[in-house]
Amino acid sequence: MKLDFSDLKNKVCILTGGGGVLGASMAEALASAGVKVVVIDLNKEAAVIVADKIEKEYGVESLGLGANVLDKSSLLEAREIIIDKFSKIDILINAAGGNAPGATTKIEQIESGKSDDFSDGFFGLDIESFRKVFDLNFIGTLIPTMIFADVMVERGSGVILNISSMNAFKPLTKIPAYSAAKASINNFTQWLAVHFGKTGVRVNAIAPGFFLTNQNRFLLTDEKTGDLTPRGEKIISSTPVGKFGEPKDLQGALLFLLSDVSAFVNGVVLPVDGGYSAYGGV
Ligand code: NAD
Repeated sequence: MKLDFSDLKNKVCILTGGGGVLGASMAEALASAGVKVVVIDLNKEAAVIVADKIEKEYGVESLGLGANVLDKSSLLEAREIIIDKFSKIDILINAAGGNAPGATTKIEQIESGKSDDFSDGFFGLDIESFRKVFDLNFIGTLIPTMIFADVMVERGSGVILNISSMNAFKPLTKIPAYSAAKASINNFTQWLAVHFGKTGVRVNAIAPGFFLTNQNRFLLTDEKTGDLTPRGEKIISSTPVGKFGEPKDLQGALLFLLSDVSAFVNGVVLPVDGGYSAYGGV
């Protein structure tokens, strides 16, 4: 086998959350390898913009669709359109995900005996927001996998790639729902990798470290000055390479896990984190 990503050429990939910052960068990497990308996003306009851009830049057929990863019927509609246009599905990337303010505590720790901290901490969390974050990140991976993976399993080849996070290995302060949901992605990735193990379909995940995106920009940098917030500073000092990741830093790991060059890699969660998960803090 020639060791490059040429086996990816003309594969058909469904990319959920593809209208977002990391998704758009993944779409670009896929198109650069000749993959036909179906960009799915709740925000149809964003999906279409990404699909049109990569089609123009890389000359590969692409498609932008509006669909909700939590709504089976909207995904079934998308599936019909995809099979009509491309006749097959080779790859599924579950990248739709994110956090919500109501599922975020205002403080990192409750001080002993300080009950006025309660509403700023765990006891003030909004259960509905907690549920939404859990659903988006976990159920939003489960349902698309149910809807799109059967085609791959039936044919006996395919790759599923889930998007985890650093907080899956060790929860980050303030974001318990997002942390628990991403931890469930790691567990589910392993479960599926075993379940599909004999079918020719591999299942892996990427755990991005800290990338400055719209989702976290104002948690990590000051809106006015652009300086690091105390949380941003903590992250940089815990990241051995000393900087945030850029969306393009995910592209190599992405293509590696999708290509046949990683044919025996199944059930892993690959950190792309500048060493954050390796660092003990001392
Ligand atoms: P983003 O907010 O830019 O992109 C997420 C996209 O998902 C958005 O375009 C949004 O419209 C879409 N989306 C939201 N709900 C949806 C739904 N119900 N159905 C379909 N699409 C929906 O975020 P991002 O930073 O590009 O994150 C992409 C993935 O990477 C997410 O799973 C996120 O949790 C994960 N991640 C991000 C970072 C980071 O530092 N940005 C770190 C680790 C993991």
